[in-house]
Amino acid sequence: MVRGTQHSSFRKRLLLRVGIVVGLAFLLVEAVVWGGATIYLRMDAERFVRSEADEISSFVVRSGGELLIDAYPWNEPHHLFNEPRIDPLFVQIMNPEGQEIYFTPNIDLFNRGAYPRQMVTDPLISYSPFQELESRFVGSALLYFSSYSLRSREGQLLGFVQIARYLPDLQGAVRSVGLISAGILLVLLGGLLFLLHLQTGRLLAPLHRIARTADSLSAEKLDGRVPDLVGADRESVFLASAFNRLLDRLDGSFNDMRRFTADASHQLQTPLTVVKGHVDVALRKPRSADSYQRTLKVIGDEVDGLTRMSRSLLLLSRLDSSMVHMERRQVHLADLVTDALEEFSASSNCISVQMDEAAWVMANEELCLILVRNLVENALKYGESGPVVVEVTLESEYAVLTVQDEGVGIKESDLNMIRDLFYRSDTVRDLGLPGNGLGLALVDRITAWHGGTLSISSHPPGEVGFTRFSIRFPLAPTPLKTR
Ligand code: ADP
Repeated sequence: MVRGTQHSSFRKRLLLRVGIVVGLAFLLVEAVVWGGATIYLRMDAERFVRSEADEISSFVVRSGGELLIDAYPWNEPHHLFNEPRIDPLFVQIMNPEGQEIYFTPNIDLFNRGAYPRQMVTDPLISYSPFQELESRFVGSALLYFSSYSLRSREGQLLGFVQIARYLPDLQGAVRSVGLISAGILLVLLGGLLFLLHLQTGRLLAPLHRIARTADSLSAEKLDGRVPDLVGADRESVFLASAFNRLLDRLDGSFNDMRRFTADASHQLQTPLTVVKGHVDVALRKPRSADSYQRTLKVIGDEVDGLTRMSRSLLLLSRLDSSMVHMERRQVHLADLVTDALEEFSASSNCISVQMDEAAWVMANEELCLILVRNLVENALKYGESGPVVVEVTLESEYAVLTVQDEGVGIKESDLNMIRDLFYRSDTVRDLGLPGNGLGLALVDRITAWHGGTLSISSHPPGEVGFTRFSIRFPLAPTPLKTR
């Protein structure tokens, strides 16, 4: 398992990424809260003085269209005193020319020279909520000013009202709102990351189990499997079962390889022992030329057997390797079978042939010759000198090659195994019939390589009947020139 520091854990990465994304989202929320609070408080301050101006206007603007300043009750405390705790409002009434014609008593409490006597803001301009309030110091008091026009019902300008108020600590209020919301968001972010940290631990537990299982495996010990992941998510369960299936396949392949190595060394050992024995006996004392010839004949036969075996193994490995390219072309099956049977001319009297000339297949000739020869060789070898029938027939979209004998037969329990490498039935071993158990394995692989299917049926040993090997090849179109 890779525990190197160069790989940061999935959990760390997830937390980092979620942290960044959620953090950015929270920053945006914070910016909106901050901006919203600023605008709201700014507008609220404006609204406050505007409603006062409206109220004053409703008193002093008379229905006849004239200004009656005394109509408003100026004796309220917030017009009399200037202490910030009573939130005083400082009101000036100006005539249409902008000259002060009235001011509230609390303005008198300031140094009059310091208090502005003219309009500070232009009542005809509407200010945006994003703008700073128009403020200035009057002595040590910081006030903000707003001016509004006073108009008759007909819209005639009668004058202006200018109201000043202590500038509220907008920035302080905004800062508190911002800090409180930032605090809440930070706590939320921390809580979210903490929960995520706990949850990812649980989510990743199945992956750790799979990794631990993988860690415990080796070529010699492939029996470990990921246990049932109770309560795990679907993807992890799927991964675990795919991993277990992969292990099953690997385990199977490793077992096949081990069995193959054992079988192959055993198969090589037997002829080499025979050769060595004959050589030792021959060398023990001087022999006649006849005796040396017999020894050499035995050695030659064993070497032939070894050569056949190594050729078969080579071919099997070529068939198993997808890297090796072997050609295929349209092949006339009857001609090919005829060519293959030439090798058995000595036994031709017991071989009968029936062939449909219309059977063409896409095939590799060299491989197909080996296939036919192996089947016929077996039929002759295990056929107890009985008749052997070789047939090529057509069956809907298939060309069917059948090789049939009436020999020793195959037990039902052997039928599934005789295609395995080096497998030979007890029946033929007991009869002492030669062979290496590679012929049918080759037939099987060659058939599969051509996209065909091999079916085997046989009577049980000791009973009379047929042993039949049938191969169904997909038909190829008949070449034009032969039509
Ligand atoms: P071998 O070299 O032993 O013939 P094969 O791979 O060709 O190897 O065949 C595998 C086994 O299948 C044989 O050993 C034999 O037990 C069985 N077998 C194959 N062909 C026949 C047949 N025509 N009749 C009976 N048994 C057969």
